[in-house]
Amino acid sequence: MTKDLSEKGWNFDNSYARLPKVFFTSQNPTPVQSPKIVMFNKSLAMSLGLDREKLESEEGAQVFAGNKIPDGASPLAQAYAGHQFGHFTMLGDGRAVLLGEQITPTDERFDIQLKGSGRTPYSRGGDGRAALGPMLREYIISEGMHGLGIPTTRSLAVVTTGEEIARESYLPGAILTRIAASHLRVGTFQYAARWGSADELRTLADYAIKRHYPEIEENDNRYLTFLHEVIKRQAMLIAKWQLVGFIHGVMNTDNMTISGESIDYGPCAFIDTYDPAAVFSSIDREGRYAYGNQPNIGVWNLARLAEALLPLLHENQEEAVTLAQDKLSDFAQFFELNWLEGMRAKLGLFNEEEQDKPLIKDLLDMMQKHGADYTNTFRALTLDKPEETILMGTAEFTQWLERWKARLGRQQESKESYIQLMKNSNPAVIPRNHRVEEALEAANNGDYRVMEKLLEVLSNPYAYSPEQLEYTTLPAPAARPYRTFCGT
Ligand code: AMP
Ligand code: MG
Repeated sequence: MTKDLSEKGWNFDNSYARLPKVFFTSQNPTPVQSPKIVMFNKSLAMSLGLDREKLESEEGAQVFAGNKIPDGASPLAQAYAGHQFGHFTMLGDGRAVLLGEQITPTDERFDIQLKGSGRTPYSRGGDGRAALGPMLREYIISEGMHGLGIPTTRSLAVVTTGEEIARESYLPGAILTRIAASHLRVGTFQYAARWGSADELRTLADYAIKRHYPEIEENDNRYLTFLHEVIKRQAMLIAKWQLVGFIHGVMNTDNMTISGESIDYGPCAFIDTYDPAAVFSSIDREGRYAYGNQPNIGVWNLARLAEALLPLLHENQEEAVTLAQDKLSDFAQFFELNWLEGMRAKLGLFNEEEQDKPLIKDLLDMMQKHGADYTNTFRALTLDKPEETILMGTAEFTQWLERWKARLGRQQESKESYIQLMKNSNPAVIPRNHRVEEALEAANNGDYRVMEKLLEVLSNPYAYSPEQLEYTTLPAPAARPYRTFCGT
């Protein structure tokens, strides 16, 4: 471990770089012309133990651009594979490098990755670069997800490079500094299973366990327990997505982490109208990654992880398959548990009753039928202002409200406590698509204030503060249907 505490607070270890060579290629970022910091996450910098003042500087810009390698870093591009829209491919960091792992003052370990840092051996035809818009978008959504209390990679900084990159038109180039518990993916294991040796696969699994599931290190069949734990974390994560109406948009196996953090904010977006079939991504023509399909895709991806782990699960492969299937079949139950618990909280329910599920389902069905806004419906219920939803006035909603009130009355907790539970469970604001676009457009014209203000509001979406009010308005009908693009 190299300490640089005298300087900017960098405190790197490079455990990934100590893995077998097959898992990465040492790779420096490609320097850029004239880097300039346009976004810097002060509170995140502090929690990482970094000196925010020294880093929010010209020298910091050189580091976040990859022009200057901080002491102790050991830059590399990670190898991984993945199923993209169901098709298996060799991938790897084609436009990112891992600088190393920052060990924080509280002894936590986080990957520091530069995204958009130039070509690597895994770039295939790509230029290794990223455009400003998509990197700012990832910044907003990842910090928004963090504010919502959803496990996620985070964004430390965005620099512009002073260079233009060729897409459909010329766009300003940018680099995002991404922070993650790790960048181990389901696709990393698929890569190991396909191109690594049996020993290398085992080494990778041991590494992942040590890094993310140290409590199971001594377990009897620890690789099976590892699979079980990843399934549990992903079920919890995807339930959280569903509860806030988040659509990832490109749930390829290379975009699913072993840590259980959400990663890779490309064509993602939040639903407004509740609709299980909602898709925003322009390339997801068949709705593979539609809102309501995310749990199914989750388990499909986890089945790919299970396949990769088979050689470690049992020496008899038939036996291994049975063990893996057994674990995979738990996903639905874990998901449902998390989802139901979350939905109960959204409705202010502390205890469980058998009829809760139909109560929830009937509300969702009404929202879908009448095109009600998902977030604002729960917000209206939280504020005890059902008249603010477009459902008001329908006989079925009146009946539903009666059922719900009766249900609330059957629990011990006071009105204050269930309202508080609802406030903590129903965000007043989410990164609404038109607000995100507005912030990006202003930023593109050099004005970052709109984005800063949006980030401020999103940092505590459960505050129900007066400043949040203007962020609860829906987009004009003309702004729909919203489309997102795989920002590369
Ligand atoms: P993503 O869609 O961001 O998950 O990326 C999928 C794969 O494409 C990863 O291997 C990326 O590194 C690679 N990739 C995306 N954009 C570029 C680019 N501009 N240059 C090189 N590789 C890229
Ligand atoms: Mg990716």
